[in-house]
Amino acid sequence: MSNKRENEFTSWYIDTIQKADLMDYTPVRGCIAFKPDGFEIWEHIKDAMDKRFKETGHRNAYFPMLIPENFFQKEKDHIEGFSPELPWVTEAAGEQLEERLALRPTSETMIGHLYSDWIKSYRDLPVLINQWANVFRWEKRTLPFIRTSEFLWQEGHTAHADEQEAREETMQMLAIYKEVVENVLAIPVYDGEKTPSERFAGAVDTFSIEAMMQDGKAVQAGTSHYLGTKFAEAFDIKYLTKENKHEFVHTTSWGTSTRLIGSVIMVHGDEQGLVLPPKIAPTQVVLVPVGPWKKNPAIVEKLDEIFAALKAKDIRVRLDDSDRSPGFKFNEWELKGVPVRVELGPRDLDQDQVLLKARDEEEKIAVQLDEAVTRIEEELETMQTRLLEKAKAFRAKHSHTHVDTLEQLKQHIADSEENDTIPGWVLAGWCGDDDCEAHVQEETKFTTRNIPFDPPAEKETCINCGKEAKHAVWFGRAY
Ligand SMILES: [Zn+2]
Repeated sequence: MSNKRENEFTSWYIDTIQKADLMDYTPVRGCIAFKPDGFEIWEHIKDAMDKRFKETGHRNAYFPMLIPENFFQKEKDHIEGFSPELPWVTEAAGEQLEERLALRPTSETMIGHLYSDWIKSYRDLPVLINQWANVFRWEKRTLPFIRTSEFLWQEGHTAHADEQEAREETMQMLAIYKEVVENVLAIPVYDGEKTPSERFAGAVDTFSIEAMMQDGKAVQAGTSHYLGTKFAEAFDIKYLTKENKHEFVHTTSWGTSTRLIGSVIMVHGDEQGLVLPPKIAPTQVVLVPVGPWKKNPAIVEKLDEIFAALKAKDIRVRLDDSDRSPGFKFNEWELKGVPVRVELGPRDLDQDQVLLKARDEEEKIAVQLDEAVTRIEEELETMQTRLLEKAKAFRAKHSHTHVDTLEQLKQHIADSEENDTIPGWVLAGWCGDDDCEAHVQEETKFTTRNIPFDPPAEKETCINCGKEAKHAVWFGRAY
């Protein structure tokens, strides 16, 4: 994509967020305030995730935000991965601290320290804990929701008696992420394994779900890690087996964050602003009286009836009977991405109908008044499915499998620039060598997204060196 197009997309994104009133900047660089509509989107995502975590036996707990420096020294890869972006607390109550405390970037170390106390025997396993919290990773280039120095997330941390059980947990949580992101956020994702260079710092294996934005760039929408016994060894988390032997536990961790809000905006938004999937929209339906409605009290009475009936079905509905013009209201609720608008004016009342307008469709539909509630409910469901289908079609159009060499990838990128289209992602072969991966990135800024579990094509040769390919890998530019 040309720089111009890229800048246009970023401006559109920021503009959309601001007009929808989702967040505000603060004097602390990289730290944003979530305004109520932005936060409520997160609450609905959180509820959907949390329900599934609990259904699979996990419980929530909370751990401190400050982590002693020596904890980070215990796992070598972990400190190397995270130290460049850690903010530190060095003094308190006017005195230098004896040991610096980091604002947590993730909680493996604190939790590892505690699990070594909590876990003594096979009877204590598995430990299945999740935390909803804020974390810090100091960022130089920030973008609201997508990349901020402080963000909200959940981090699951589990401990198991053996590798098989820990690996099953890792895959189970990745599958839950995929299901929520596809069915609740209406964003299709490719699930697969990260290459070693893209692994979480300290993980044995990292798996991810990857989503394509409308500028063709990727967002890593969730990750699940099998940590082996690395953190157990670093923090001495041992248990007594049934055979009375001391063994290290196998741990996992998995996370999703408020990046998902940014992904929803970038996947579904349009020229008119935000488009929200009904399942996570703070307001799902807005009722708007039109025409000279104030002279005709029956109009608001009818809308009140619809309002009450929708409320009774737990649908998040608002009646906009403010004195602003209908055109102003339509525009405002469209900017906010409200899925369904219902209009009722004197002429509609004469014809015993209301008009329904789905946020992502051009046409209004006339619906009999006595069927209005049922039809609104149906429209919320069909819109949810339609958004996923539209996003899938977009992704299919921009997922390419014809590229086999670096030269072809460069040509593909050059062609897309010339035609003012987006390059999207390419599925290419990879021999497994880090240098080949790095060279593709240097030359094209395309990084490996993941090695999909279910690749749409076979790949024989490495995109860089031409040797035999070990994997078919998604390459793309990423946030
Ligand atoms: Zn190679």
